[in-house]
Amino acid sequence: MGPIQQFTPKQLRERYETVLEENTYQGILFPRIHEEYKRSCAAEYTPAGLEAFRRARLEEALRHAGEHVPHYRALIARNRVADPLGTLRALPLLDKETVRKDPDGLLSGTLQPDRCRVASTSGTSGIPLRFVVDEDHLVHTYAARVRMAVRFTDRLHYKLLMPYQGWLQGGWFEYVAPGFGLARMAEFGTTAPPGPEDGDLAVRASAYAPDIVFGHPSSCLRLATALAATGRSITPRAVMTFGERLLPGARETLAQAYGAPVTDSYGMREFGTIAAQCAQDAYHIEAERLWVEVVDAEGVPRPLGERGELVVSNLVNRAMPLLRYRTGDVGALDPEPCGCGSPFPVLRLIEGRETSGVTLPSGRTVSGGEFSRVVRTRPVARFQLALYGDELLELRVLPAGYAELDTERLAEELTLLVAGELPVRVREVRAGEFAGSGERKHVDIVRLPADEA
Ligand SMILES: [Zn+2]
Repeated sequence: MGPIQQFTPKQLRERYETVLEENTYQGILFPRIHEEYKRSCAAEYTPAGLEAFRRARLEEALRHAGEHVPHYRALIARNRVADPLGTLRALPLLDKETVRKDPDGLLSGTLQPDRCRVASTSGTSGIPLRFVVDEDHLVHTYAARVRMAVRFTDRLHYKLLMPYQGWLQGGWFEYVAPGFGLARMAEFGTTAPPGPEDGDLAVRASAYAPDIVFGHPSSCLRLATALAATGRSITPRAVMTFGERLLPGARETLAQAYGAPVTDSYGMREFGTIAAQCAQDAYHIEAERLWVEVVDAEGVPRPLGERGELVVSNLVNRAMPLLRYRTGDVGALDPEPCGCGSPFPVLRLIEGRETSGVTLPSGRTVSGGEFSRVVRTRPVARFQLALYGDELLELRVLPAGYAELDTERLAEELTLLVAGELPVRVREVRAGEFAGSGERKHVDIVRLPADEA
């Protein structure tokens, strides 16, 4: 394995310890995860039955928020009507900026700190955001994930491989994850560009023989390439992707390379998986625990089938309820029931952060997520990519200030990512210098005329 370039061995050891502690905690939750998994598998909803179930959950979520969450107290008292969906739709949209500025206002007065977890996300826009989830939220999100995996493995015991994990800068790490059923997990990462180190990792992945490969499409592709280059293969039962748009070409390549079905999911750190593909490749919303709306710029719901911004409400998490939370992604609710027979509503992802990528002169597209993964491990408070015509790619960064930002090194790595097809410049800017956009709240990539460079 290559050297760890940004963490000291001690820091990496501490991160391992954190993951192991988290998995011990998942072990404590496992009886509840298993119970929820069994319940959700056994629930045979009619469309009307599912609707009644989630409306009851929505009503309870709104009642709790109105009574115990400062941010919502007056809002819900003012807007409450008999139909919980009417009450929800009268609430203003919640954006990341509000969560960032007033996180305490969104915390429940009933919150039990020892039964919650604090998570944070850099978001694709690079602005750090912290949020709190409770055990019910964790139990439900883990149970949903177990259901997704067991569809392919038929049992709770299986081996899962997460390739090219950004946090794991170098090396290979294995443990047992009760939050994935009772899966044996292996994760690996590297800070090296594609090269000899990938060969070592491919040999190890092949020996590990995972039942499921679980990762970003670009990471699963990189592993497939490395396996082919070393003449090794693995035969998983499924490749499960998330985090980036899965383009049709990538899906086909993955299916061929691994000889296994490829299934994708759409989610956010704030909510976990929001929608996951069925056997017919439709994205079914996890509607028992999330309410997804498609809205216009004023927050008014769009008719079924019409596009708009996706906003999500968590029906389960009481610690820090996010209601009508803006995703910045664009999609539509499918008016037709899915051919697979599931009553869970289908989301059509029309475009969003995953389609915002940079198409290089060669025709290859580098996704916003791939850029984000290079940038977000740096001391950067916020960033944005500006593409000047087809001539220059500029990374605008707001340094976080807690450590020196090596802009030259950053520019080198970005140049590597675009394989030198475009010149890259890294420019430090102030908060006000980020360009805004119309439809999406947080833009990652702005396109500007070449002569403005
Ligand atoms: Zn379906």
